[in-house]
Amino acid sequence: MIAAGERRLLIDGELVEASAGATFDNVNPATEQVLGVVADGTREDMQRAVAAARLAFDTTAWSTDKELRKRCILQLQAGLEAEREDLRSELVAEVGCPVLITYGPQLDAPLAEALTWPAEMIDRFEWVRSLGPKDPFGIGMNEREVWKEPVGVVGVIVPWNFPIEIILNKLGPILAMGNTCVLKPAPDTPWNATRIGRLIAEQTDFPPGVVNIVASSDHLVGEVLSTSPLVDMVAFTGSTATGRRIMAAAADTLKPVFLELGGKSINLVLDDADLASVIPSSSMVGFHAGQGCAMPTRLLVPRSRYDEAIDLATGGFATVAYGDPTDASNLMGPLVSARQRDRVLGYIEQGKAEGARLICGGGTPDHLPTGWYVEPTLFVDVDSSMTIAQEEIFGPVLVMIPFDDDDDAVRIANDSQYGLSGMITSGDLDRAKAIARRVRTGTLGLNGGIWYGADAPFGGYKQSGIGRQCGIEGLEIFTETKTVGWPVQP
Ligand code: NAD
Repeated sequence: MIAAGERRLLIDGELVEASAGATFDNVNPATEQVLGVVADGTREDMQRAVAAARLAFDTTAWSTDKELRKRCILQLQAGLEAEREDLRSELVAEVGCPVLITYGPQLDAPLAEALTWPAEMIDRFEWVRSLGPKDPFGIGMNEREVWKEPVGVVGVIVPWNFPIEIILNKLGPILAMGNTCVLKPAPDTPWNATRIGRLIAEQTDFPPGVVNIVASSDHLVGEVLSTSPLVDMVAFTGSTATGRRIMAAAADTLKPVFLELGGKSINLVLDDADLASVIPSSSMVGFHAGQGCAMPTRLLVPRSRYDEAIDLATGGFATVAYGDPTDASNLMGPLVSARQRDRVLGYIEQGKAEGARLICGGGTPDHLPTGWYVEPTLFVDVDSSMTIAQEEIFGPVLVMIPFDDDDDAVRIANDSQYGLSGMITSGDLDRAKAIARRVRTGTLGLNGGIWYGADAPFGGYKQSGIGRQCGIEGLEIFTETKTVGWPVQP
């Protein structure tokens, strides 16, 4: 049993119940048991949070006082560090993610730098850039500078699959750049967000209203952030369908939208690669039950070595340990909800109906009757035009597609509405790099390499999103640009 999480919302510096007094359940996807409740924020709560964020931006020193910002961000970091183990248990319980991955991307990796790197960058960021003197109209010289300034109030909407990672990678840059914000977590995983709210209220010097956190069981409460004229920008991570809706809703007030959306990334193995050392680990698509936007869910292998690749992948799938996420030997836990499980099973049925050959998995495991599990699933003989090769399944499902040569591999890799991530493996790094140049995607790991880091821009081409999170690009995106000039004596 884990301790109950924080139920209250953070609005204008106060930890509060929802205005209508309602709560909703937080459910453990592995046990289907209710963990506890959280305040069920309403549109009125969201509007109050937005007004508080606006007031904090317009009337406090937050946007101009860099020392205050650094201090507050590092206080939040210290609070999270002190509660790291509670946070770990809470993540495993509410997300259903295997505890194993909390030691990496789900918790320890973002906790190491997602707040500290932007805090350090406050001093190193190029806030002012000189353009040098110029006499554009022949009437006198001018000095000119470009000033970077915060955007203002940022609405932050996040999904459930990597909640703390995504929240910290958004809050760090948003706050370091001097913005205020309203965060709406996903209804499936509210506690890690409300925990941040409690830490901010009780252990930091953040001025009231700089950070507001409104959980809600109603997805559409988040829509206030897209439509409100008091919000200057929306930063969203979630599905491409919701991203489209947010962009349309934000059009009326012409606010910029920063969108981190879905993916259907490649694991491209070239014919000169050592297949035996690469293909078995393609079953890693089962990692966190496939609930990762950057998962390489399309395995592209040379047609000349297709049968060998099928044998190797089948062997890999046979070894995926899954089940109870609190057991550190498991790589994969359940899907986050019954709805997500049914959605994944629907895609598996569609794959079969469209003629793909099911090699492993394909259903729910008999030995795990409780919890929303789906077996690690491998489809071969997949054509790139099939639904399971085109749509993001967001489950532990790998599709194997054969290619004829490098051009064919690039064609298939780019035959997608998405372009988020991917992997390329070759015996020749230069050949892998040459292919990488031609693949339209935001991040790529070459020969098993890892690009991840708070300093590394992450985001998508095409319908995988707009803008980049992390890195210098991920700081700049939360700034406005002001150009100024004044006359100087010759
Ligand atoms: P989702 O789009 O259903 O929901 C994401 C968030 O948006 C939730 O907080 C939800 O309550 C909110 N929301 C839903 N409708 C809304 C609306 N009309 N207005 C405002 N807010 C609204 O996504 P999900 O199912 O929670 O998460 C899975 C998706 O997220 C996958 O598609 C995955 O690829 C994507 N994702 C992308 C990244 C990335 O960085 N590119 C990272 C993680 C997840």
